[in-house]
Amino acid sequence: MPGDATPEPGTVYLVGSGPGDPELLTLKAKRLLEEVDFVLHDKLPGPKIIDLLPDDRRQDVGKRAHGNRTPQWEINERLVELAREGKSVVRLKGGDSFVFGRGGEEAAYLAEHGVPFEVVPAVTSAVAAPGVAGIPVTHRDHASSVSFVTGHEDPTKPESTVNWEALAETGGTIVVLMGVTRLPQYADALIEGGLAPETPVALVERATWPGQQIATGTLETIVDVRDEVGIEPPAVTVIGGVAGTRESVVEFLRNDYSRSVEDVAND
Ligand code: SAH
Repeated sequence: MPGDATPEPGTVYLVGSGPGDPELLTLKAKRLLEEVDFVLHDKLPGPKIIDLLPDDRRQDVGKRAHGNRTPQWEINERLVELAREGKSVVRLKGGDSFVFGRGGEEAAYLAEHGVPFEVVPAVTSAVAAPGVAGIPVTHRDHASSVSFVTGHEDPTKPESTVNWEALAETGGTIVVLMGVTRLPQYADALIEGGLAPETPVALVERATWPGQQIATGTLETIVDVRDEVGIEPPAVTVIGGVAGTRESVVEFLRNDYSRSVEDVAND
């Protein structure tokens, strides 16, 4: 009967926005942002990309009135609701949606509810933030493996699922996301696990955003560096020999988003 038919569900695109510079959006992400009926995003895509989004068909699900995060179940339900209205939707996340982005949970929920979706991969901050600081996450002389780790958990608690000791033993690069607050705890855990206190460390805050900050030190000095420079989230921590290579290239590095602060604590 006309009017009674439920529309075919729209497609949900799980799109990563890259670290924040709009020129680092993929061409596909850019096209979808222009074409879809609705965009759900949070704060992590950063001010420059958020400025590009159409005001009349976007919703910020990052923060609610009281400063709390919108719970994941509510975002999941909203995605299904929009799709069931027949709308095409971009769910936009900072970096890549499948790297500490809860994209996997959203994909599972959509599949469970019969909503078609497409994954649009992107440049993750785990690689891009070190990159714009002149730091390669692997290097023939320094690291033949790299681990992406959450710093959100307290390493001194028994329920911590990150094995810092084992990470220290790999000898590879360690890139910590969500790791500004717990930096003192995991820097200690890595030293206890056998990494030298002199191991180079870099902090890259708001990579490719206006106000990007880069600070460097060692496992021993980096907490003081963080405090003196005033590094705040979002930032990634890069630990390992590769972090020390920045020094030799920085003079000619033209990734010019901001100021950088070299090892203040050692001055
Ligand atoms: N999906 C994202 C990660 C989300 S978890 C990605 O692939 O990049 C949130 C963490 O990402 C932040 O705490 C921070 O560690 C990191 N992050 C995201 N964007 C960043 C940026 N522009 N600069 C520095 N760190 C960033």
